[in-house]
Amino acid sequence: MSDIQLLPQVQAFLDRDHGLFIDGRHVAAHGSEKIDVVSPANAQVISRVSNANSEDIDAAVASARQGFKTWSQTAPAVRSSVLHKLADLMEQHGEELAQIETLQSGKIIQISRAFEVGMAANFLRYFAGWATKITGQTITPSLPSFNGEQYTAYTLRQPIGVVVGIVPWNFSTMIAIWKLASALTTGCSVIIKPSEFTPLTILRIAELGMQAGLPAGALNVVTGMGKVGQALIEHSGTDKVSFTGSVPTGIAVGKTAFGANLTRATLELGGKNSVGFLADVDIDKAVNGAIEAGFLHSGQICAAAERFFAPRHRIDELMDKLSLRLKALKIGSPLDESTEFGPVTNRVHQQKLGAFFDKARAEHCTIVHGGRLIEREGFYVEPTVILANSVNDSLLNEETFGPIATFLPYDDEEEMLALMNNTPYGLSASLWTNDLGKAMRMVPRIEAGTVWVNMHTLLDPAVPFGGIKASGIGREFGEAFIDDYTELKSVMIRY
Ligand code: NAD
Repeated sequence: MSDIQLLPQVQAFLDRDHGLFIDGRHVAAHGSEKIDVVSPANAQVISRVSNANSEDIDAAVASARQGFKTWSQTAPAVRSSVLHKLADLMEQHGEELAQIETLQSGKIIQISRAFEVGMAANFLRYFAGWATKITGQTITPSLPSFNGEQYTAYTLRQPIGVVVGIVPWNFSTMIAIWKLASALTTGCSVIIKPSEFTPLTILRIAELGMQAGLPAGALNVVTGMGKVGQALIEHSGTDKVSFTGSVPTGIAVGKTAFGANLTRATLELGGKNSVGFLADVDIDKAVNGAIEAGFLHSGQICAAAERFFAPRHRIDELMDKLSLRLKALKIGSPLDESTEFGPVTNRVHQQKLGAFFDKARAEHCTIVHGGRLIEREGFYVEPTVILANSVNDSLLNEETFGPIATFLPYDDEEEMLALMNNTPYGLSASLWTNDLGKAMRMVPRIEAGTVWVNMHTLLDPAVPFGGIKASGIGREFGEAFIDDYTELKSVMIRY
């Protein structure tokens, strides 16, 4: 097989002189600083975007404040139908968006089509449905009245204002959609700051947003380095930040937000997610589970598993069969439809993964499979299986965010639970067993925001998602996100 043919509109989009998306249109940035967008498949520069400066940030915030005035007064049913229209437009332009996404992120084209377009449109429609269902409560006040007067009370859920959505590079379209859809369905306006590595697709989606009927200023996109995100949070005209990214950056974002007059913050951060294979697990299902949990999109998924605990008497068979499956994976160009395993998204990340392989060797872990960078153009690493010596080994404690599954054997299931919880993070975890009753008793004892049984990584817009411990604050999806994008106002009436 070979690479698919790029659509002419994709090349034309890459060739544009990209500015920022402010006030409903593309505008040139005030400064002249540019950022190269590099293809992970061949390390070539494919496009350039602007690094916004303080004048650009002021303009984006002014636009979003104006957009908030209009959009927050737009009837919920209209908000809902505009977001539905945007989902339809994303699907109509699906191949174009998928190709741009694969070019900038190295994600294999099948994943771009299925997740960055198809799944993102599904999430958008789910959020669109909430616009017409946001309610308060009617409350009978509890205290006795003094002179026979009566009281009644009710609550209102009101949009928080201008939201800054800061997005990482791993699912740059879908995560941007989660943020803009949460903001827009609740009546907020939004400024998206994409990752400097993957800024392109959302610039195109902003245009589709206008076509769908968003008023000018409701959705803005400001490209740039991390400092641009920081300046947006610090700006007195923004009210909330919804951040997805690494733990150290998330902690810095939280401090900035609290220091900026208690700007509200939702933090969706990284993790070091565990898989527990129980003693009775079917080995073939466990192998499929390890592939699903650890290797989809080269492990560059926040909820992906990196720590695998398996019963001592079954671990060798499990690792051998997993290695055979990984050996058979077709590694290649992400634009080739037959490729099963593509590059990682940027050179810095590839080098970081190389350093993890060195660390594993220095700590005398056994490299069961892989463990090297791949010598070819672009940013490729081998899918890797490692056997650790102890729960203290670096590969069982530091987030690699790559295709590295590190295993440790256990002797009894109480020990397995303790090992799974022995981490400062708590984003996700999974249990694999035929004994559902046993799994159900273990679920409440696992310290993670999401626990899967006999599955891993699948996110559904109806099911809340977010971290406990050092993996974050707040929840996306379900009904839970509404609390984070609205303020609760109480109204009391005497009569
Ligand atoms: P990152 O933290 O380096 O960057 C994320 C975003 O923050 C980028 O847009 C970056 O420009 C911006 N940024 C950097 N410094 C900033 C600052 N001081 N103030 C404001 N913004 C700043 O993360 P990354 O390398 O892009 O993404 C990988 C990380 O994201 C992994 O740790 C992964 O686990 C995490 N992640 C978490 C989730 C989740 O839902 N919990 C989802 C995807 C990725």
